[in-house]
Amino acid sequence: MNGITIALSKGRIFEETLPLLAAAGIVPTENPESSRKLIIDTNRADVRVVIVRASDVPTYVQYGAADLGIAGKDVLLEHGGAGLYQPLDLKIAKCRMSVAAPAGFDYAAAVQRGARLRIATKYIATAREHFAAKGVHVDLIKLYGSMELAPLAGLAEAIVDLISSGATLRANNLVEVEEIMEISSRLVVNQAALKTKRELIQPVIDAFAEAAQ
Ligand code: ATP
Ligand code: MG
Repeated sequence: MNGITIALSKGRIFEETLPLLAAAGIVPTENPESSRKLIIDTNRADVRVVIVRASDVPTYVQYGAADLGIAGKDVLLEHGGAGLYQPLDLKIAKCRMSVAAPAGFDYAAAVQRGARLRIATKYIATAREHFAAKGVHVDLIKLYGSMELAPLAGLAEAIVDLISSGATLRANNLVEVEEIMEISSRLVVNQAALKTKRELIQPVIDAFAEAAQ
């Protein structure tokens, strides 16, 4: 393709990316929430958007199926970042990655006495690194869906998940016991495309950089 392809996920990332795209003079012609289309045209003949699952964005960009993408730091850490140039923190889709446990579970005491903890999470790589750095022994259990259920159903003692307002935790009688890191979304660029299509890609990076301040 002569133009450029941008990989985005539906929901908060698409919504929060619209103002950045507008700053670069790019306006999608359809909203993926209401349209079932997975390839969305824009006001510019040389720019299109592909709608993929949040955790698939780095993969599309790594292999050059998309030239650019926007992905959360959570997703990028799990992916590893191979083949990706990450020029900008866009400061959108902000939240934090934390450890949470049932209100009655004394996490600090369990860590203190060196207990082995069962932790359910979608973020295995980040969780492994966090607990290894703290010297906490954990059995990590990979989940794909709602992590909040795991401690309530007896699958794990605690979870590692993303938190923004904390409302979902509260609704399930869970408490944030440790913050691991702050999360926001980043622009990722295919390294080869940056060289071969620089005249199309660099203005987008520059406009995003200006708009993301
Ligand atoms: P899916 O919902 O398809 O399983 P997902 O949960 O990864 O995928 P979204 O819920 O759209 O996808 O989240 C996309 C990104 O938004 C996350 O990777 C994260 O960087 C960011 N984000 C910001 N706040 C939150 C939050 N409270 N919960 C989950 N993700 C959040
Ligand atoms: Mg989700």
